[in-house]
Amino acid sequence: MKLRFLGGTGTVTGSRYLLSDDNHRLLVDCGMYQGVKTLRKRNWAPFPVEPSTINAVVLTHAHIDHSGYLPALVRNGFKGKIFCTKATHELCKVLLPDAGFLQEEDAKYAFRKKFSKHEHPEPLFTEKDAWEALKHFESLHYHETFEPVKGMEVMFTPAGHILGSSCVHVTHKPSQRTVVFSGDVGRQNDVIMRPPEPIATADLLICESTYGDRAHAESDPEEDLARIITKTAGRGGIVLIPAFAVGRAQMLLYLILKIMGEKRIPKLPVFLNSPMAIKATEIFCKHHKEHKLSAAECQMMDDQTHFVRTVEESIELDSARYPCVIISASGMASGGRVLHHLKTLLPNPRNSVVFAGFQAPGTRGDALVNGADSVKIHGEYWPVKAEIYNMETLSAHGDYNEILAWLEQGALKPERVYVTHGEMVASDVMRKRIAERFGWEVEVPELFDEVGV
Ligand SMILES: [Zn+2]
Repeated sequence: MKLRFLGGTGTVTGSRYLLSDDNHRLLVDCGMYQGVKTLRKRNWAPFPVEPSTINAVVLTHAHIDHSGYLPALVRNGFKGKIFCTKATHELCKVLLPDAGFLQEEDAKYAFRKKFSKHEHPEPLFTEKDAWEALKHFESLHYHETFEPVKGMEVMFTPAGHILGSSCVHVTHKPSQRTVVFSGDVGRQNDVIMRPPEPIATADLLICESTYGDRAHAESDPEEDLARIITKTAGRGGIVLIPAFAVGRAQMLLYLILKIMGEKRIPKLPVFLNSPMAIKATEIFCKHHKEHKLSAAECQMMDDQTHFVRTVEESIELDSARYPCVIISASGMASGGRVLHHLKTLLPNPRNSVVFAGFQAPGTRGDALVNGADSVKIHGEYWPVKAEIYNMETLSAHGDYNEILAWLEQGALKPERVYVTHGEMVASDVMRKRIAERFGWEVEVPELFDEVGV
């Protein structure tokens, strides 16, 4: 069996790994590139392997940087099945059509504003393509073994990153070699997700390294949120939290309502302004056995949140001038309704903007947490006067300490480890740390490298 790195190298987006033997090709993750333009341009290059020659796809989790290219893959000729956990399937039903819709909107916008090189800019894929791709999905339980292609046995184990997220274990039956893809690995002590399950065995391990060179601050997120919200509300301001619709939005909602219930912050309205995050919250609550929150805690979220569904409600909320908390997508402020709120709230020093997770280089989120004094939104520059906070401690990714601790929990003796899903420096630091701690052979692959399994 061979493994080829078709993405997710030198960057945290575009995860795509191809396993192949003489007869079959299995793709693990089919992500879209996000962030700086040179990366995004890769989405438009022909897929490195003819899609019709791929027999099946297996997904680690629903985030777009792991699943977002699927509609294009299907449109370009992929005919096989797409396997994932049940919750990942449900989340993809929300995320992929939305991604298609956004692609169409972007193409229309580029056409109207004439800033495309093409006379008629086309979307990468449409909402209809996304629904077409969803017809290929088949979902399974954790720990259930199945053969997506003949001779390759696959199993999902919980990765603790978001609802439905998993590590993907692939055993090549003829050679009895096992490759494990970590996917995105969650925290050892997350607020809402249970810790990732240790990996029992692997000949080859593909390990993420988003925080390969950084440790999360030790601070208490409840304390931090209480301080920021109380201070901002005290000066009559609004707290805006750009949050990843799936995962962090639910955690933030829970934390804020919890500290409000404990009277650690003033009683103020909490808005969730993202149709996708609202749907993700419903799915999250439906699967309450797969995370730490109880049915009662989920009910509390449902009862006490102001869900902003329609565009009209969103526009109305944008004119709010009283203290409140607005959670809105997207998490790196690269698109979505949060942009309208940023335009309104950034120029006023009374307000606060709180980022809650990894900000990929090149995104507005990255510029803001690094102290930009203005940001470009919808073609215009907006001054940054609001207070900007970066609570990386709320990230859904384990830092290097947590990943090392997780690796140690298993009885692993891999022959080789490939470090992926990180910026170049982060991956390289992670490589050294794993090698020093365990004495394993560790490499950082480059795009399109192929290795024997
Ligand atoms: Zn993820």
